[in-house]
Amino acid sequence: MANIKELKEYATINNIPIMNDEGIEFLTTFIAKKQSKNILEIGTAIGYSAIEMAKVNENIHVTTIERDEARYMEALKNIKKFELEDRITLIFNDALNVHLEDEFDLIFIDAAKGQNKAIFEQFEGNLSMNGYIITDNMSFHGYVDMPEEEIPSKNILGLVRKIKDYTYFLENHMLYKTTIYQIGDGIAVTERRG
Ligand code: SAH
Ligand code: MG
Repeated sequence: MANIKELKEYATINNIPIMNDEGIEFLTTFIAKKQSKNILEIGTAIGYSAIEMAKVNENIHVTTIERDEARYMEALKNIKKFELEDRITLIFNDALNVHLEDEFDLIFIDAAKGQNKAIFEQFEGNLSMNGYIITDNMSFHGYVDMPEEEIPSKNILGLVRKIKDYTYFLENHMLYKTTIYQIGDGIAVTERRG
């Protein structure tokens, strides 16, 4: 039997950074409220958030992209277990090599944090007129709000700076307006300016 708790345990044991409960709650409530139907996700991992999004209601279709083969294989398996093969399309590739024709009313970016801007620009042309782009991990485990001299590694500092650049990019974009929620690990909700 398909069991979401098992997926979460697998992620914990294998150090796979799936969305936390608060983040998932926000995302699925958002999808229900906005009646999103055609969703694109960048960063499938093992399929946990894709499955949670598809489960919101039966009209939803999720296309999701993952570049790591082992995770992609695990996601395939999980999506079958949940009998969601008809409503979740998995793409095994680096998102930056993927060109899609479809229009999406929600684009969920949850991939390499340093690539947020490149991924945003890669897929903004696929956003429907009244669609939303949601980006996860805008707080990056709290590091984004930490004084930079307290950040424990150069690697993390590099990513933090990229997230700050991306925040600036979103907040000053001429075509979009963005609200960042201090929910989960920090969630940015972007929509077209009116
Ligand atoms: N959304 C998932 C978690 C994703 S973790 C959930 O909450 O259940 C981030 C994933 O993005 C990782 O598995 C990583 O391999 C993948 N990823 C990072 N950069 C990517 C890229 N450029 N293209 C495709 N996948 C990417
Ligand atoms: Mg995330």
